[in-house]
Amino acid sequence: MTDLHRLSVRELTEGLAGAKFSSRELTEHYLKRIEKIDAQVKSYVTVTAEQALAQADAADAAIKADNATALTGVPIAHKDIFCTQGIKTTAGSKMLDNFISPYDATVVAKAKAAGLVTLGKVNMDEFAMGSTSENSFYGATANPWNLSHVPGGSSGGSAAAVAADLAPFATGTDTGGSIRQPASFCGLTGLKPTYGRVSRFGMIAYASSLDQGGPMARSAEDCAYLMNVMAGHDAKDSTSVEKDVDNYVANLNGTSVKGLRIGIPKQYFNVAGLDADVKARVEESLKKLEEMGAILVEIDLNMTESYVPTYYLIAPAEASSNLSRYDGVRYGYRAENPVDLMDLYKRSRSEGFGKEVQQRILIGTYALSAGYYDAYYVKAQKVRRLIQQDFLKAFESVDVIAAPAAPTTAYKIGANLSPVEMYLGDIYTIAVNLAGLPAINAPVGFDKDNLPVGLQLIGNYWSESQLLSVVHQYQQATDWHTQRAAIAEENA
Ligand code: GLN
Repeated sequence: MTDLHRLSVRELTEGLAGAKFSSRELTEHYLKRIEKIDAQVKSYVTVTAEQALAQADAADAAIKADNATALTGVPIAHKDIFCTQGIKTTAGSKMLDNFISPYDATVVAKAKAAGLVTLGKVNMDEFAMGSTSENSFYGATANPWNLSHVPGGSSGGSAAAVAADLAPFATGTDTGGSIRQPASFCGLTGLKPTYGRVSRFGMIAYASSLDQGGPMARSAEDCAYLMNVMAGHDAKDSTSVEKDVDNYVANLNGTSVKGLRIGIPKQYFNVAGLDADVKARVEESLKKLEEMGAILVEIDLNMTESYVPTYYLIAPAEASSNLSRYDGVRYGYRAENPVDLMDLYKRSRSEGFGKEVQQRILIGTYALSAGYYDAYYVKAQKVRRLIQQDFLKAFESVDVIAAPAAPTTAYKIGANLSPVEMYLGDIYTIAVNLAGLPAINAPVGFDKDNLPVGLQLIGNYWSESQLLSVVHQYQQATDWHTQRAAIAEENA
């Protein structure tokens, strides 16, 4: 078969189980595509061909022996923030360019246990700080819909790989939008779970109280398959929650759009930088949901103006603490010929970290320093609580909240926005992380330049099944999620 990359995850599981093709054929097919097409997209930092083929053969043996899970033999790409034993894990940083983890992240271990085949590790903004993937030490990744545009970030490699059909699905992480915004820019479905639903063990830390892993794929159905693997309590992550996991695939038809109350925050649709095409596509998608029986309810989210300043204090504060471990001594990059210990620290960190990361360490250290702690950090924590309360109040009258995922479509590579312009692009995603809520992006059309637009649905705590189900219903009634970029149509 020449078009294995066009199959959905469900079709892949059925084809493997029914011996229509083997995991080896499927894996070779993807490796061939990566070899031919990824020179243009640059989504992979590391391709693990040899290991993938060995995993594929093991998967084929397990399927034959009737010892397989639903996903045994299906390929996957992992964001290069998840530690992989024996395979380089860089987090997009020169600091970790030589880092080989001695253990697997829990998410990676679970993927292996489910029989998934690791194709490789995909690109990202350095330490997940950014919205374009241009902050990677390994250079920019291209958006498959238009190669001169960014795929978004920080999980830009994950999004680009899936959108170019260089992996059926991928893991991502979301600290302030890094699953939802690249999914939006690349026309994909991406789910940021409730904080604590997916283990953070072995996921390189950016801002620990906000970081959360999740699936990125073409459809809600494909995401549900991966969510079934990723979700669950982990004794190795003290913030992971001991709560039963749903069967997200079985629940795909569990929520009806009929009677679903969708909150439309007034403040969100009056944001100055909201692109007219994005607004129009999001409104059309809401109209469609209304036709399907949803009830649109105007709501207030009064804290909207506080989102960006609050996030850009808390996230850098936590980052400055988390990144203090990279000291040139224990692991990672080490400056050459240090004259003394201070010189070793200073130069290892100045040479090993890129500009955006250094900028955030400076901001975070400032906000946490003795004289400013109360004025900035403590105050931001208080505002964070108000933001959460704002959402909880809204959820008293609605089931989900609708928003764009981003105010614009994908930027041009090299657009070189100022930090403030770049940070304002996170307005629709970061409050969800501050509140610890789940949210999903679904593709809902294109702008005048044929770049994808995304609709974000924010749910109450632990409503992942509901979000996936609502998007699944929408995707049964529309075909935005089946549209492919021209480069994905190319055969290897
Ligand atoms: N763009 C946001 C930032 O730069 C979000 C990144 C993320 O979710 N990892 O912090």
